[in-house]
Amino acid sequence: MSGVFGSFDRTGKMDIAKDMYYGVFSLQHRGQESAGIAVNDNGSFLVHKQMGMVSDIFDEVTLSALPGFCGIGHARGGSDKAMGADGIQPVLIKSRVGNIGLTCDSVILNSDSLRDELKNMGAIFQSGTDSELILSLFSRNRITTDDCEHAILASMKQIKGVYSMIFMTENKLIGVRDPHGLRPLALGRTGERYFLSSESCAFDAIGAEFIRDIEPGEIISISDEGVSSLFFDDKADRVADGHVCIFEYVYVARPDSTIDGTEIFESRYNAGKALAKEQPCSCDLVIGAPDSGNAAALGYADSLGVPFGMGLLKNRYVGRTFIKSTQGQRELAVRMKFSVLKSAVKGKSICIVDDSLVRGTTTKHIIKFMRENGAREVHLRLASPPVKFACCYGVNADRVQDLPAHTKTTEEIRDLIGADSLGYISLESLRASLKDIHCKQCSACFDGDFVAGKSEEAGE
Ligand code: SF4
Repeated sequence: MSGVFGSFDRTGKMDIAKDMYYGVFSLQHRGQESAGIAVNDNGSFLVHKQMGMVSDIFDEVTLSALPGFCGIGHARGGSDKAMGADGIQPVLIKSRVGNIGLTCDSVILNSDSLRDELKNMGAIFQSGTDSELILSLFSRNRITTDDCEHAILASMKQIKGVYSMIFMTENKLIGVRDPHGLRPLALGRTGERYFLSSESCAFDAIGAEFIRDIEPGEIISISDEGVSSLFFDDKADRVADGHVCIFEYVYVARPDSTIDGTEIFESRYNAGKALAKEQPCSCDLVIGAPDSGNAAALGYADSLGVPFGMGLLKNRYVGRTFIKSTQGQRELAVRMKFSVLKSAVKGKSICIVDDSLVRGTTTKHIIKFMRENGAREVHLRLASPPVKFACCYGVNADRVQDLPAHTKTTEEIRDLIGADSLGYISLESLRASLKDIHCKQCSACFDGDFVAGKSEEAGE
């Protein structure tokens, strides 16, 4: 999973780099493995990208070396095929029709067969990344089509998968959302400067206005001539047919973003209120598992009329914890990341509200720390249903055999994590918490309904 960002200044001002930086920085929560920015310097494409966090990669010097009126950027999370330096984006190529850049948040389910097909036609690949595969398809299709948008459309018809991507050509910025609308993509604007972003929070960071979500299957093109769209199909209502990932609302997106008509914070707060109605708890204090559990915890506490307070702190300066091979080391890693406020929990019955329970290993340690710090009872409430299926769209990387809810009952999981009680929101109530949402949602990790199909390795 990753965040994509793009910018096009229709006045031609060559100072896009700082907007690009703040845009990509705002999407850091979507991926911390690597980041990059590429700009169009009057037809010459320049790029700076490397492993690490956005703030470590860019500074005044690197940004001043990226002049341009148009740019694309990327913050990447890890994936098995694109691990390491090979997967750092944006990717730039020189095609028969000039320079092309691409940044994408994607999982191509038929990548193996597409790659074999292209290799049999003489294509050469340097990595296993989706971006290289998509650019190879695009370059070939561009030979037989009138413009870049139709070359992208032809490539979309060959690809089976989920994606939000942004192409940079020598005179255009082109955003694409897959026909299922599974990954988010939005359009923003300030004056004559247009932006495309995985999430609307990036527009706030640069003082731009959110215009609208890109529709499922839409190819939106921004150039000197204006903004225009081409569509994957002629369906009467593409938006209502879309299936955005419901985990964006549960965990992935920033609380200050709005996706497909629904504000993330509000949806999490609503889910907390509904959870309190379905799974009430007799407790002295409700605390949120930081940070994505906080909004639901607030809604839960408000609905029950129980105090909401701090009890668990997250150390923001802990990055990846590598030494985790033994049980003791894993516990140490969680202790470094979370600490309990003893005075807040001692002698009390605590209800922790979290966004979800995937493997449950961190939660188990947190419950243990609560007890060590004197909590009388520790209850757990989850603002999403049991995660029973592995996501093959790149959002949740866990394997099905690592998901306790795939085989265990709620009571068995409660016992496993050591809570006094455990309760989940129903899928029906979670959906109802997404007020004003424009489209349907993928909820395959809860119900196994993989709307966009499965990968070739996973089979049907
Ligand atoms: Fe999102 Fe779950 Fe669907 Fe994956 S399976 S895209 S995590 S809702």
